[in-house]
Amino acid sequence: MSSDRPLFPALARGGTASAVRFGERELTYAQLRRAVLATAERIHGARRVALWATPTLETAVGAVAALAAGVELVPLNPRSGERELAHVLGDSAPELVLAGEDVDLAGLPVVAPEVTGTGPDGAWPQEPDAEATALIIYTSGTTGPPKGAVISRRAVRTTLDALAEAWAWTGDDVLVHGLPLFHVHGLVLGVLGPLRRGGAVRHLGRFSAAGVRDELSGGATMLFGVPTMYHRLAQDVATDPALVKALAGARLLVSGSAALATRDHRAIQEATGRQVIERYGMTETLMSTAVRPGAAHRPGTVGTPLDGVELRLVDEGGLPFEARDGETVGEIQVRGANLFSGYLGRPDATAQAFAEDGWFRTGDMAVIEPDGAVRIVGRKSTDLIKSGGYKIGAGEIENVLQEHPAVAEAAVTGEPDPDLGERIIAWIVPADPADPPSLEVLADHVAAHLAPHKRPREVRHLAALPRNDMGKVMKRALGA
Ligand code: ATP
Ligand code: MG
Repeated sequence: MSSDRPLFPALARGGTASAVRFGERELTYAQLRRAVLATAERIHGARRVALWATPTLETAVGAVAALAAGVELVPLNPRSGERELAHVLGDSAPELVLAGEDVDLAGLPVVAPEVTGTGPDGAWPQEPDAEATALIIYTSGTTGPPKGAVISRRAVRTTLDALAEAWAWTGDDVLVHGLPLFHVHGLVLGVLGPLRRGGAVRHLGRFSAAGVRDELSGGATMLFGVPTMYHRLAQDVATDPALVKALAGARLLVSGSAALATRDHRAIQEATGRQVIERYGMTETLMSTAVRPGAAHRPGTVGTPLDGVELRLVDEGGLPFEARDGETVGEIQVRGANLFSGYLGRPDATAQAFAEDGWFRTGDMAVIEPDGAVRIVGRKSTDLIKSGGYKIGAGEIENVLQEHPAVAEAAVTGEPDPDLGERIIAWIVPADPADPPSLEVLADHVAAHLAPHKRPREVRHLAALPRNDMGKVMKRALGA
């Protein structure tokens, strides 16, 4: 007997409730069950398959079929360049690729997922053990070449159930999103999440504020998005009363994958009366913390650890410390059943990622507030600036800069400086390119809100910030 009950109990049963909709194409649980069984049959016997993860129904069916069949799944970003694709394919060595369109990937056999929902209607397959690999998901590549995180069925189940507990997420919920389907956020939380609950997912194909508005007005209860999407919503609430009404009526508005700008959090709250709640996680840990709905929270906090997740801060020497003062910065380490099993084929990187006593080093720096909420300060590698004897988090300065009316977007980095150690550089996308804000104006603005040593020493203007597919700012491209 398998020790893992079906990952998707509602799907194993079937039924007439709606399960997934992508654009015009919608499948009930019974139809999705048939599509998944037919697709599982097509990949039967394979050990590992790649998935050409376009934002389509084919991708959702392919992913669920691999999980049902107990075949390891490697989602591919269809927008990655040839070099990155070659890296991922060479690294993970899949036997075939599941794709809804004709693709030539190093000559791999292509298998199309069945999406009509009229295929076979047999018994639900016996699912493998909880420790078996479910997914190999590549990290976003924000700080270096993407690494393949090996994720067990146990980790998937643990994280989805902990989120359900935290958010009272049930089969009655209908989730809308327009996230890409090759990362944890869009695929695990955004597709597998609703299906594990027995609820429904509506995928927009491509994110738009109008799409979100229409789905939320049409019965969707939850929205998942990345900060660039909430930035768009924060702008559009000023001119679209129907969007305001739709957001105000949603049960949950959730942001993650990167820090949500304070200014966008506030703009949405002021227009709709609703707070966007943040959760924090990474490919290697799935979800670690989340804000609980209903609990008033301050922008910039990502809530408290999820059920079964232990979280601690360690100092530069790796020693854990207790400080609920909202001030003492440490690196986040986590432990729990939500963790990945290691980086594919990289025992060295895996060993390095864990502290001697087995806790996972996230590389993210944070403080803990008096009420226990975690506030992320930034990444150890790119967001921590050591200037004039101080350790300064880039995010705090970025938030303040973005509140200045002359600033559309801001990123902050540190550069070597003979006097200060590092000096603070502000990369600014001006609101009006013809009238970019000066260093003096921005330095005064920062000094009016934060300690004087946090003001930028140099301003560089850009037409746009370099971002990856998840909208994350690639600070490497800014020299960080
Ligand atoms: P790579 O590891 O390849 O450099 P990446 O770290 O961006 O890329 P992911 O695993 O997709 O790849 O992202 C996890 C990171 O995203 C976390 O370590 C954290 O820095 C950031 N992150 C996720 N959620 C939040 C959040 N709510 N607030 C701030 N940062 C977040
Ligand atoms: Mg990372």
